[in-house]
Amino acid sequence: MTLLLKVENLTVAYGKVEAISGVGLAIPEGRIVTVIGPNGAGKSTLLNAVMGLLPSRGRIVYAGQEVMQAKVEARVGAGLCLVPEKRELFAQMSVADNLLLGGYSRRHVRDDSRARDLDAMYTLFPRLRERHAQQARTLSGGERQMLALARALMARPKLLMLDEPSLGLAPRIVREVLEAVASLRDRGMSVLLVEQNARAALSVADYAYVLETGTVALEGPAREVAANPRVTETYIGVG
Ligand code: ATP
Repeated sequence: MTLLLKVENLTVAYGKVEAISGVGLAIPEGRIVTVIGPNGAGKSTLLNAVMGLLPSRGRIVYAGQEVMQAKVEARVGAGLCLVPEKRELFAQMSVADNLLLGGYSRRHVRDDSRARDLDAMYTLFPRLRERHAQQARTLSGGERQMLALARALMARPKLLMLDEPSLGLAPRIVREVLEAVASLRDRGMSVLLVEQNARAALSVADYAYVLETGTVALEGPAREVAANPRVTETYIGVG
């Protein structure tokens, strides 16, 4: 099992307050690893630090390289990709143009791979094909999440980091989005899935970490974490 990402002893402070302290996690290639935990546990902070958007201490090894000192651009270039909680789409632009911009870093590639990738995105999310000419701002919440995910994929990332993709979505749409994530994993994508919706995240993930007040409280194969009484009581709820 090859590790794509290894984080050791990661600490991020906002001023004097540590938002995460000594966090460690590993993402094997072709697996979905989820980080669950309550509001304010430090989940977004963790993703932002891995992406290089926040100063941090510790060790981050990605694809065999130490990237702690690497700038965001270099991390993006190496295949790290973050889909933020706020989606951050180009609201006035069409679905298709949002997707094409997602592949902007590959604009110099002189073949039809971007067009093929666009088609692959429409196959993954048929709803986006139907709405390709529609402005992003007019999409439903679920469609926006699909577009944010598809736009990220257009850059052909190696590690897809998703910050609460289920936020604000109806359960049926959450299923749809997470099934798409699972199908990407089945084709070899590595995913770091941050979620407050523990039940949904654990149902697709291979391995899970529970983050509480900035530290890893529990970790294990997703199925075991889902069956842990503490997790069931606190994060999944009875019944
Ligand atoms: P949520 O699910 O609510 O987004 P989270 O687990 O992603 O929560 P973070 O957003 O990482 O948690 O926040 C972790 C802690 O750091 C919280 O106590 C939060 O208030 C604090 N925090 C986050 N961003 C900042 C900031 N820019 N300045 C100061 N404190 C911050």
